[in-house]
Amino acid sequence: MNYGIDIWSNDNFFIDNKKVKINYKSSPSLVKITKEIRDRGIRGPILLRFPHLIEKQINLIYKNFESARKEFDYHGSFNAVYPLKVNQYPNFVKNLVKIGKKFNYGLEAGSKAELLLAMTYNNENSPITVNGFKDEEMISLGFIACEMGHNITVTIEGLSELKNIIKINKDRFNCMPSIGLRIRLHSSGIGIWAKSGGINSKFGLTSTELIEAMEMLKNAGLIDKFKMIHFHIGSQISEIGPLKKALREAGNIYAQLKKIGADGLNSINLGGGLAIEYSQHTDDIKRNYTLREYANDVVYLLKDISTNKGVKEPDIYIESGRYIAASHAVLIAPVLELFSQEYTQEKLKLKEENPPLVQELYELYRTINREYAQEYLHDSIDHMNSLLTLFDLGYIDLIDRSNTEILVNLIIKKAIMLLRDLDSKELLRIQDMIQERYLINFSIFQSLPDFWGIAQSFPVMPLDRLDEKPTRSASIWDITCDSDGEISYNREQPLFLHEVDVVKEEYFLGFFLVGAYQEVLGMKHNLFTHPSEATVAISDDGYEIKDIVEAQSIIDIMEDLDYDVKEMRETLNAKIQNSSFLSEEAKKQILGEIYLFLNDNGYLKTIN
Ligand SMILES: *Cc1c(COP(=O)(O)O)cnc(C)c1O
Repeated sequence: MNYGIDIWSNDNFFIDNKKVKINYKSSPSLVKITKEIRDRGIRGPILLRFPHLIEKQINLIYKNFESARKEFDYHGSFNAVYPLKVNQYPNFVKNLVKIGKKFNYGLEAGSKAELLLAMTYNNENSPITVNGFKDEEMISLGFIACEMGHNITVTIEGLSELKNIIKINKDRFNCMPSIGLRIRLHSSGIGIWAKSGGINSKFGLTSTELIEAMEMLKNAGLIDKFKMIHFHIGSQISEIGPLKKALREAGNIYAQLKKIGADGLNSINLGGGLAIEYSQHTDDIKRNYTLREYANDVVYLLKDISTNKGVKEPDIYIESGRYIAASHAVLIAPVLELFSQEYTQEKLKLKEENPPLVQELYELYRTINREYAQEYLHDSIDHMNSLLTLFDLGYIDLIDRSNTEILVNLIIKKAIMLLRDLDSKELLRIQDMIQERYLINFSIFQSLPDFWGIAQSFPVMPLDRLDEKPTRSASIWDITCDSDGEISYNREQPLFLHEVDVVKEEYFLGFFLVGAYQEVLGMKHNLFTHPSEATVAISDDGYEIKDIVEAQSIIDIMEDLDYDVKEMRETLNAKIQNSSFLSEEAKKQILGEIYLFLNDNGYLKTIN
């Protein structure tokens, strides 16, 4: 049982000596790093960031496009920008910018806030592209970026934006951003994120509007500023076919625009969309191409169209975000409880004289063996159903009912242990029947919002005990009190976890590939916030844990919600001070306790 690590991990992680380890330099185990962070007093979920995985993805993109350019003797340049919307957290972005410097890797912004981030942190001379809807202010901000010396292209989504840019240019200081036009393609991506492309998409200029835009630019004497056409057919493009179709369409539009006088036009921006394989099961693999194939197809098709149409090969820009960010972050969350844990032999309260069926269950439990395991299991379930009916009719009492539940649970666990070497359908069926609910110290709404919103699954596995066959079919419950905070057991893509005694041992689950979109989409449901995070830099002889940021304190969340925190503190104080039955001593202690709660985060703090 390797939890599909060979499918989704892209060799970033491997199993060795029972543990998940990081496949880089000194290869530390995730559980060791986790324990070290917890030794510093941090509890609850922890998000680990690995800068070497950001570097790996950036390297891969440039390397594959450079070899494609060599292979097809392509004369246009290759450029990439990182779309900030995928993850704007500082400990990710700052590392990315540092790593990207030698490639001239740039940033893409889709809002005023993101543009200001890009203007602050982008490497000198690296490109900035701006997409999304823009008012006059945002366009002015684009001019300011240019005036500050940034290499910026503002992509126009509609003709009114173009009007504004032409107008604003008259009032600014002799520096105009390059203009990109977002084109509306007939081709679209596939899957749940395909809405960004296609003729009905939210974005882009139709052919008619493109012609009109060209006229407007010519009339304003700004046609030379029009440098780029842009499209984005959707995120997580699982098949390469739609991209090739979109490229042919875009390539021909490029050639046409050049023919009708777009003399400055020299770039095609393909947007993002490179897919990540999230699957843990071979029969569920979603992505049907490699990065090499993607790069080769892009370069080959653009070369082919340019040659045929007799135009200069365009510079290529891509804006892949998910592909860059997803793998760098792993969420680690402790198991707090197994719901059937209370079913232990010590809890049995057998009487001198038990109802015959309870006595029978006890005998089944005592004598079950491998040969008869299945039979006994079926008998015990039969007995349980009869006993529950007897309870409803008033023939047995609550203690008998409790003994029944415990015994059947114990029989099932014993049967699974006895049969665990079998790979039988029957075993799967039994495991199905008695799923275990694992309560995990995290919020699905905060840390895996795409699971909640669009049923996107993320690889999950325990960090340790990987030499033992896990026997419990698992559903995962978070600590929000919302029934949607559950990843239920799925018999098509089953998750099995180990039997754990949480009183005696720690058991951590890792959720992988959570570095793209999840952090900033995360919701504060029940007022759980972004988990504590740490950045782990791995070297040849060890690793360094840096930039620990603890989860926000409760008082900070209140402030985010615009509560007057002074008022909250004073009201709580007054209520305690005015108590008629508390001693002065007690009041002092309670005030201290309230102070600590307000200044700590809201995740659970059992030993685990
Ligand atoms: C969201 C977005 C991207 C990034 O898409 P990924 O699927 O994360 O690669 C790139 N460009 C534009 C215009 C976008 O809207």
